[in-house]
Amino acid sequence: MTRNLRYSALVLRVRPIGESNREAFFLTAENGIVRATIFGGPKSKLRSCISPFHQGTLWVYHDTVKDFMKVTDFDVKQWRLGLRELYERSMAAAALVDTVTASHAGGGNWAAALERAGRTLDALDSADEPMVQRVFYHFLWNWIDLIGEKPSLRGCSLCDSSFGGGAVLYAPVEGAFLCPSCGEGRQGILLGIGARKWLAAVENLPPAALNRWSLDTGSLAQVRSVTVALMAGLLGRRLESWNW
Ligand SMILES: [Zn+2]
Repeated sequence: MTRNLRYSALVLRVRPIGESNREAFFLTAENGIVRATIFGGPKSKLRSCISPFHQGTLWVYHDTVKDFMKVTDFDVKQWRLGLRELYERSMAAAALVDTVTASHAGGGNWAAALERAGRTLDALDSADEPMVQRVFYHFLWNWIDLIGEKPSLRGCSLCDSSFGGGAVLYAPVEGAFLCPSCGEGRQGILLGIGARKWLAAVENLPPAALNRWSLDTGSLAQVRSVTVALMAGLLGRRLESWNW
């Protein structure tokens, strides 16, 4: 049996297979990560359309007996050519793709996964160098939320006391934020009020609105440490692409 399928899709990766064909991995709103073959030489239209970070409507022919997927068309709606204009942007976009892939597209809520990844890439497409980092750590923070593992910033997860204005500790063993007295003597990452307020303020905020919230260099470093530690804890490893 064969079926023709239509997806709302973001191109994650493309790699050559055989002499003239390629294989692409897409993040789709309907079915998470989809892998399909692209036939055709270097001059084919599909080949130029299907490139990382492009997003649009994808048509795939599925041979269910052979479990074989072939791309029949891709209508690009977002090209995001700006991502290739700045080194920082392209590195952040590559780190996003690695995170999406390593987390199996966030685990199940694929429409939300595609929306978050797409919006982040749109914001990166025109972000200046300082904003690129904020957009990426905002993505990590909200991706952790999408997976359902975001620890509460409202209060200490051990004694339930609410946090005051001082620093709190992110304890990787507990995967939680702790008040100073519960955090005493434990290994972790200190998070000051600036970083904490930023993380609370930008929850569920679209990345394009991030320029409304300031973040000083020290707080940015804390946001980076915490979001990377949280995501590394979820994946069981640190991705190399996070270190650009
Ligand atoms: Zn406590």
